[in-house]
Amino acid sequence: MRIILLGPPGCGKGTQSKRLEVAKGLLQLSTGDMLRAAAEAGSELGLKAKAIMDGGNLVADEVVVAIIGERLDQLDPDQGIVLDGFPRNVAQAEALDNLLKSRGQNLDAVIELKVDDEALVKRVTGRFKCDTCGQGYHDEFEQPQVSGVCDKCGGTSFSRRKDDTAETVLNRLEVYYGETRPVIAYYGEKGILSSVDGMADIDEVTKQINEVLEAN
Ligand code: ADP
Ligand code: AMP
Repeated sequence: MRIILLGPPGCGKGTQSKRLEVAKGLLQLSTGDMLRAAAEAGSELGLKAKAIMDGGNLVADEVVVAIIGERLDQLDPDQGIVLDGFPRNVAQAEALDNLLKSRGQNLDAVIELKVDDEALVKRVTGRFKCDTCGQGYHDEFEQPQVSGVCDKCGGTSFSRRKDDTAETVLNRLEVYYGETRPVIAYYGEKGILSSVDGMADIDEVTKQINEVLEAN
């Protein structure tokens, strides 16, 4: 199964992708995570990307398309995937079509997570993650069961993203509405788009996503 989770920053793509990895054996392909890893590794490409990401703008299409293409090449063709944060504009969506077509593959579903802007700002500014295993948390909505200790791996070091400030998230939302929202219409026209209520609590969103996948 190959699916895309679509929606603005903070709508829950990463949270739900991680759940789909556990529940359905899909592999999360997050271009944001891949770019952050490249930035941390200090490669020229990574450092260039970091400056763009810190401002909340989009990294060049050819860079992200190449990263996704390389990752697909490394995978068993039967490995199910959940794309998180890609495609982010129509040109990337067309490039993805070509990448999949050249491999004789297709998309099974594109799921949009609908969330109000006000809630997005709150979600993004309260987000943090475990440095050891990457498990995501939120100051208010998803705290570790024991404060300061990761539920998943027992790690005790956590961090926040540099682009998760109130100021940067406003630019990221503008970029989303200008560049990424047309991708929803793109998949709508192809007849593979479904929407779920991303304002619901995390378990309810998971349930709605499962219902979409089971109907496919
Ligand atoms: P995205 O990957 O779309 O940017 P995340 O999955 O990282 O978004 O979610 C952003 C923050 O909001 C995280 O801290 C997460 O714990 C929290 N979150 C995710 N889904 C929900 C939800 N349905 N209700 C409340 N908080 C949520
Ligand atoms: P994310 O982790 O999905 O919130 O992405 C963080 C940042 O990485 C974005 O604000 C962009 O700067 C960059 N990025 C991630 N995915 C893409 C993409 N598909 N195209 C362009 N830039 C991206």
